Parts: sequence; C-alpha cells; structure tokens
Amino acid sequence: MGGTLLYEGKTKIVELSEDGQSVILTFKDDITAGDGAKHDVLALKGQYCSEITARLMHYLNTKGIYTMFLNYIPPNKIRARKLKMIPLEVIVRFKKAGSFVRRYGGTEGEDLPVPLVEFTYKSDVMHDPLMCIEHLEVLGILSMQHATIIIDEAKKAATLLKELFTLHGFELWDIKFEYGFDESGNICLGDEISPDTMRLRKAGEMFDKDIYRRNLGNPIEKYEVVLNLCRSILL
Ligand code: 5GP
Repeated sequence: MGGTLLYEGKTKIVELSEDGQSVILTFKDDITAGDGAKHDVLALKGQYCSEITARLMHYLNTKGIYTMFLNYIPPNKIRARKLKMIPLEVIVRFKKAGSFVRRYGGTEGEDLPVPLVEFTYKSDVMHDPLMCIEHLEVLGILSMQHATIIIDEAKKAATLLKELFTLHGFELWDIKFEYGFDESGNICLGDEISPDTMRLRKAGEMFDKDIYRRNLGNPIEKYEVVLNLCRSILL
C-alpha cells in the first residue's frame, strides 16, 4: 500500500490511497485509556476493530446514514472517504454510565428518558472537556447549524445500532462517534465503531473497553464475540 502518511494517532494510521482519491485507515493493535495514561498492545485488536467498524458502517450505509466506509481490506485496513475531521467526540447515551454518572450522579445502567447527545473536545491535555453548542460556535469549532445536523445524525445512527444489537440480545448503553466534512462540505460519520467506542452489555457482562479501563483483563475474547455477531452483516 505505502501511500503518503497523513496522520498517526494512538490506534490508527491514516494514509492517502495510491490514486489520492480516498484514504486507507490501518487499525493498530494498541489500546489506550485515561487520555493515553494507560497503554497496551493486544494481538488481533486492530484486525477485530477494523472488521467490526467495516461491517457496522456498511450496515449504517444501507440504512441511509452517510459514513466514510468504502471497503474493507483484510485483515486490518479500511478504505474510506477523505474527510476533514472535526475535533469532537459525539457521545450518544441511552443509559447512565461512565463520565455521565461521575458528573451528574445516578447509577450505572439506569435508563435515560430520551437519548442524550454530548460533545467533548478531543484534547488529551485538557481531558476532553464537555462542550455546549454555544462553546462550539464561539470557539469556532462548529456552527450551530452543523452541530444540529450532527445531533440528529448521531441519534439516528446510534438508534439503528442499538436496534441491531438488541436483535442479538445485547444492550447498547452509549456510543462515541466522530464526524468530518467530505470534499463537498457534507457531514460524514468517520473514525471507528467498535467495542473501543461503545458500552455494550449482555446480562450484566461487559463486551467493551471498560474491561480494559477497569483493569479486568484482556478484552479480546469479548471483542471476538462482537465481531462474530457483526459477521451477520454481509459486506
Ligand atoms: P464516557 O464519557 O462515559 O467515558 O464515555 C461514553 C462513551 O464514549 C463510551 O462508550 C466510551 O467508550 C466512549 N468514549 C468516550 N471518550 C472516548 C475516547 O476518548 N476514546 C474512545 N475510544 N471512546 C470514548
């Protein structure tokens, strides 16, 4: 492959494709938590998370959600649309957990009355601060019009995934998305959708990165379970 390196993050490498028309994302085996404070390398993780992302984004594409996904290049790469990424994490919550419980109280797993969308600014040094829509506009990160589109898109995508996981007996508690602008200025879902970016539970058991965050061992077997259910989505 060997295209021009555009970006290397904690868990992904982004290169320009050979024809310059798309990008190739390589998913690494690295896993991090606590704004990079905790870091490990887990065999097969890049492979599993790239295939899960490919299948879930393909599923969303078929349901009318505009995602970056073009095609899966086994074992651990995705060809994707070129995007100018917005430096935000867009979190959709169906249940109270994690930083929501730390900030606002309640108990882990308690239902929220309606899906809640939160924006955090991607910055390890600032610890991903929570942003109101007005912060986004005043700080020049995102217009109110684009923020409104993202809230709507994120709720739609999260609800489709929640319904999909429900069919397989899993509960989607929350999920983090990242968006970018395509070359025509349209908002497009980018980055990754995997157990690294969601809380996925079944009968009280974790199938997501909280296993790693809470030092409960190697989560890779649980990620494999998620991959196997995603294989019902045909590429
Ligand atoms: P919380 O804000 O409760 O820690 O996370 C909410 C949801 O967003 C969880 O599913 C969590 O995995 C995801 N999330 C939040 N921040 C990050 C992050 O920096 N990286 C990743 N991979 N996921 C995140």
